[in-house]
Amino acid sequence: MRAEGGPATAAGAEALRRALGADRVRAAEPLAPYTTFRIGGPADLFFEAASADELERAVTAARSIGIRHFLLGVGANILVGDAGFRGLVIRNRAAAVEVDPVGGRVWAESGAVVHPALIEAAVEAGLSGLEHYVGIPSSVGGALWQNLHFLSAPPERERTVFIAEVLESADILSQEGERRTVPCSYFRFGYDESILHRRDDVVLTATFRLLPGEPARLREVMAANLAWRAERHPPLDSEPSAGSIFKKIEGVGAGRLIEEAGLKGRRIGGAQITHRHANIVINTGGATARDVRDLIELARGEVERRTGLRLEVEISFVGEF
Ligand SMILES: Cc1cc2nc3c(=O)[nH]c(=O)nc-3n(C[C@H](O)[C@H](O)[C@H](O)COP(=O)(O)OP(=O)(O)OC[C@H]3O[C@@H](n4cnc5c(N)ncnc54)[C@H](O)[C@@H]3O)c2cc1C
Repeated sequence: MRAEGGPATAAGAEALRRALGADRVRAAEPLAPYTTFRIGGPADLFFEAASADELERAVTAARSIGIRHFLLGVGANILVGDAGFRGLVIRNRAAAVEVDPVGGRVWAESGAVVHPALIEAAVEAGLSGLEHYVGIPSSVGGALWQNLHFLSAPPERERTVFIAEVLESADILSQEGERRTVPCSYFRFGYDESILHRRDDVVLTATFRLLPGEPARLREVMAANLAWRAERHPPLDSEPSAGSIFKKIEGVGAGRLIEEAGLKGRRIGGAQITHRHANIVINTGGATARDVRDLIELARGEVERRTGLRLEVEISFVGEF
């Protein structure tokens, strides 16, 4: 969801409190704890939506009052600026999940986490298609924003699988303010890409259509994928990050280009290109958003100088830096 509207004036904040409840709208809330990078200054206003209806109400209120707003899932694909966000941050905690084992469907509110909530519900019911995404920090809404993807099941791992392959439909609050059900094709999914990058639609709920799967086999895939991640990715609790920083470029992994530029381990302030994976920047403790951005620019500049290729950033920059 794009951040639109203006900054939060005193009158705007008051109107928002009237619409959403005075005790529910917090002021000057630090955003770092709500991101996997553990970086970011305060939001002027902050609201946690506990259901899809509350999410719809919050977005509608912000739009009609004209307050700039940003919808936050798990905060795993963003870098929030050190000066924070001038407006309202809506944290999506609408997390209901329902399974229809006979129809092979899982329905979820968009703030539900893909792992464990969604995946466990599916696997318990013997439904296959979501197990690939084990260990990835993501809300359902964030997964649709970016078309969550990973390698297909071992041992072949012959292709990349995308969440779009199992999405049947979603309920959205459209940019125009209507609540409607849209099919998967509405999202125009691509690699790290969906219509949500270009339209101010909000995903409220999503329905996934899955295939029958043997729970024991699904758990094998999950264990193998967790082991794959543990080997290659820095652990989030001790080395906070936002996963991959740059998109693949002309089929080549950005990590390889950064590694060939000799930048593994390079630091600026508290930010470091991790030794484990050159496309991941970690917060070694006390990193600022500025440190991370400077490191991103350094990597981009070096790769361009050496190869002529311009790396494109995959994460979103939110707020003021
Ligand atoms: C350690 C690590 C490993 C990762 N590995 C992978 C991986 O293997 N594959 C992969 O694809 N990604 C990976 N990622 C990236 C990240 O997990 C995904 O992009 C994830 O889908 C982000 O979801 P989120 O809920 O955190 O979104 P956020 O970061 O909170 O938000 C991202 C964007 O989505 C928008 N958004 C969120 N919810 C909604 C909604 N309901 N409606 C409309 N817009 C919405 C936000 O406004 C924002 O613009 C990894 C990240 C980390 C930290």
